[in-house]
Amino acid sequence: MAGPGPARLDRDSHRWTGVPLGCAGWTVRRTRATSGRMTIPRLFVDDRLAGGAEIAGRPGQAHYLAHVLRRGPGDPVHLFNGADGEWLARIVTLRRDQAGFLAEQQLRPQLPDTDLWLVFAPLKRDATDLVVQKATELGAAALLPVLTERGNTARVNLARLAAIAVEAAEQSERLTLPVLHPPQPLAGLLADWPSGRILFAAAERSAAPQLRPARGPAGLLVGPEGGFTPAELDGLRKRPFVTLASLGPRILRAETACLAGLALLQAPGCG
Ligand code: SAM
Repeated sequence: MAGPGPARLDRDSHRWTGVPLGCAGWTVRRTRATSGRMTIPRLFVDDRLAGGAEIAGRPGQAHYLAHVLRRGPGDPVHLFNGADGEWLARIVTLRRDQAGFLAEQQLRPQLPDTDLWLVFAPLKRDATDLVVQKATELGAAALLPVLTERGNTARVNLARLAAIAVEAAEQSERLTLPVLHPPQPLAGLLADWPSGRILFAAAERSAAPQLRPARGPAGLLVGPEGGFTPAELDGLRKRPFVTLASLGPRILRAETACLAGLALLQAPGCG
């Protein structure tokens, strides 16, 4: 019997196809298994969800359902919109560029998100994509690109990153999307930082204590590949809401530091 075809990124829907289930890295399990034969696609939608509501699909979803998954009217989908939980729905219309669904039954209520923000210096394109994908899986509520003196780039393609975040939320069974902010200079971000939210600044080669789970609203700040400048570190130390933190004795790539930090801040029983 022929195995699955090569992995391929669908340009319209930003979805991977032909990817074997259960593999690591960029392989994405896009649908939830319901029986040996049929899987149910999980899709983010913009409309409000309620019993009997007619829901319009987003751009790219009609193509994905019809041509990638070979689904048609009457087939089930799972929908979420970041506000109304997760719903079982049926495809009612499926045209070339238009999908419509009928919401039937709520499967999960909306639950509060982890109140954890990731502030990161934008990296080269693939690394930034990876940070956004994995931070979404790890439940970051907001993603804030920040411009630092040694930053790799000031350019961020927010539309592309939003599409990556949608796909990661669909795949990871998350009920929300992270709020994606435009890049801003570090000084402005610190000046506008909300009261009551601690900011853990990841600082390598410092005497800072090991990062531990957060007990309330928190942010994690990770610097660029070149690290923070001494002046930036001094400025961080002066802010009462900033706590410098270590991620261990090794120097991590910035993307590794983002993901390790998000995991540590949420680790149960390690506080
Ligand atoms: N160029 C720097 C150097 O060689 O010392 C390393 C910068 S590191 C690649 C990028 C960012 O990841 C740092 O600014 C810091 O925020 C974070 N980071 C990496 N390793 C870390 C560690 N062991 N503890 C805390 N933060 C770390």
